[in-house]
Amino acid sequence: MAIMEIMELGKTYNETKVLKNVTFSVGKNEVLAIIGPSGSGKSTLLRSLIHLEEADSGAIRIDGAYLAKDGKYVSAAAMKRITAKMGMVFQHFNLFPNLTVSENLVLAPKYVKKEAKSLTKKRAGELLKKVGLAKWADHYPAKLSGGQKQRVAIARALMMDPDIMLFDEPTSALDPELTAEVLQVMKELAKESMTMVVVTHEMDFARHVADHVIVLDQGKIIESGTANDIFENPRSERTKAFLHRSR
Ligand code: ADP
Ligand code: MG
Repeated sequence: MAIMEIMELGKTYNETKVLKNVTFSVGKNEVLAIIGPSGSGKSTLLRSLIHLEEADSGAIRIDGAYLAKDGKYVSAAAMKRITAKMGMVFQHFNLFPNLTVSENLVLAPKYVKKEAKSLTKKRAGELLKKVGLAKWADHYPAKLSGGQKQRVAIARALMMDPDIMLFDEPTSALDPELTAEVLQVMKELAKESMTMVVVTHEMDFARHVADHVIVLDQGKIIESGTANDIFENPRSERTKAFLHRSR
């Protein structure tokens, strides 16, 4: 069953259509990779799924509930309930620099979910252990490497217990050796059956971890299929050219 359904999604920025009739769905426990050239609309698409941007036509349905329909987002209360099912990880980590690692993790559960401090602290400890950063709980982000920061950002998103994790080029700001440790954490999440939508330039990750792959170009899905279809047997010339450039 699809946990995410995107129907004819569109968005225009100052007369320019940056998303055009984008339609796809993601099954529960699936990993979808979104690939495509810079400027093709990948971030706009992902951000519109949690209302960091507003799509202006089409529909978004999460776990059966409309987040947007006919280009209009639902009421604030419904939106809060639906977007809470998704956690997002950004290219530039977006940690709070004035909070320790542990404080970064407990902030949202404490204020958004009003969870008890003892409970959130315990869960933060468990998740930091999961991403290999238990020792860093009381340090400030500035002391961490980029790879460690991104692993904190993943743990922080997991604190809210999301059903779907969205990643927007989570390793693009990292050196290759730090990229690997972040991809490893993402692979483990996939193995644990987390539903994931991953915008990435890491073709090996898309090829070996994703169940499905979408190729976005100039705001349009130019090709979609299994990882095997896209990488072994791409049909569109533009996909072929993109994959060739990305090697
Ligand atoms: P990608 O993530 O694939 O690199 P983006 O979603 O960031 O692509 O951008 C898609 C297009 O939308 C680009 O042409 C970009 O210049 C444009 N765009 C993105 N954000 C804005 C904005 N806030 N205002 C105007 N244009 C934007
Ligand atoms: Mg982007």
